[in-house]
Parts: sequence; C-alpha cells; structure tokens
Amino acid sequence: MRIDKLLANIGHGSRKEVKQLLKAGAVTVNGEVIKDAKQHVDPTNDHIMLYEEEVFYREFIYLMMNKPPGVISATEDTREETVVDLLEAEHAVFNPFPVGRLDKDTEGLLLLTNDGVLAHQLLSPKKHVPKTYFAVIDGEVTDADREAFRKGVTLDDGYVTKPGELTILKSGLRSDIELTITEGKFHQVKRMFEAVGKRVVYLQRISMGPLQLDEELDLGEYRELTEEEVALLK
Ligand code: URA
Repeated sequence: MRIDKLLANIGHGSRKEVKQLLKAGAVTVNGEVIKDAKQHVDPTNDHIMLYEEEVFYREFIYLMMNKPPGVISATEDTREETVVDLLEAEHAVFNPFPVGRLDKDTEGLLLLTNDGVLAHQLLSPKKHVPKTYFAVIDGEVTDADREAFRKGVTLDDGYVTKPGELTILKSGLRSDIELTITEGKFHQVKRMFEAVGKRVVYLQRISMGPLQLDEELDLGEYRELTEEEVALLK
C-alpha cells in the first residue's frame, strides 16, 4: 500500500496534507526517512513512525453506538442528521456504516463497521442473529400476545413472522416488554404489535447477537468494540 494512502486512511489528513508531512521528513519507515508519497509499505510488517510516534494501521473499525432518537441509520443524507455525522473524524475516516437500521425514533444498540463481510453475516436471514428490544406499549400486553408472537403473527403485508420471544415486564394501560426476534423486517417490532392491535410508543434495542448495549454509553455516545467482542461476533 502507498504510504500516502495508508496515512490518509487512518486519519492523518488528506492525501495532499500527508504529502506535505512526507516532504517535511516527518515519516520514517524502518528507520529511514521517506519523502516519496508513492513509496509502497507493508502495513503489517514495516515499522512506520510519524513525528516519532508509531503508526498503527488497521483495516477495520467496529463501533457500538447508543443511537439517539432523531437521527437516521444511514451514512449520509441531504436533509437529516445521520449516525455517521455523530462520529469523530478519527473514526469517520474509516468510512464505517451502520449494520442494519433502527428507525429514526428508535434508540439503542447500533453497530457501525467498515467490515462488509461481518456486516453481511450479522444481517443475513440465514444466521438468525437474535436482537432484543425493550419497548413501551400503549395498551395491556397479555399472555395471549406472548403466545401469538411465539407462533408468529401476520404483518400488514401478509408476511408471517418467525417465532419471537416476548417477556412482559409490566402490564397495564402502558406495558413494558422485551421482545427478541431473529429477523429484521422493516419496522418489524412496531408492525408485530400492530398485528395484535397495539402501538409501540418507545423502542430501544438492548442487544444484538452476543453484544449488550453498554450502559456507560449515553445517547449519541459510542465506543470501539474490544477485540473479545469482535471475536464473539465472528
Ligand atoms: N423494529 C422496529 O419497528 N423499529 C426498529 O427501529 C427496529 C425494529
């Protein structure tokens, strides 16, 4: 990989700015000053220093965000704020994208990565990755609803959902529930409740596969996944 591309990719400026750093003699590779932007380096074996600080190259980035309401799960949009707009430049430079979508008004666990293979695996209907949501429902959620979700309910377009596991945390005029589903149809949780005549008034994703939403993250905050967490996802 070209040295200017590598440095730009990991957030040390535009290709033009990186060229200036190189010209200024700020970069050494295996102890030698490299001024030629076209110089090829081996990111995994070469010892690259910028202003005497070691440069660590990595191809992939994995982020867990506590998505706030009011932003959309997309990389860019002409009118709406996106989850990628919430990222610091040092993370945005890797061009991560959201793994699946949460509705604009849904909060909670959203993964962002630039690892297309992993994203594909997590979203593949064949993998049945479980996703758990906490929701507040307008209306009394009953054991009959739990049974209906366990069998599968028919959505407004005729699709019959795969079994979902409903836990009723509090039942009343407003009910608190948790629902685990293994698919990701458009507005699925809201439409499942519509199928039993009820309305979701608050929705938060609390887990995806082996990952739980980190309670330390306030709405709009994010952190990198640990190596162990990434390994669990694979
Ligand atoms: N189901 C929904 O209805 N909305 C979401 O954002 C996620 C799951």
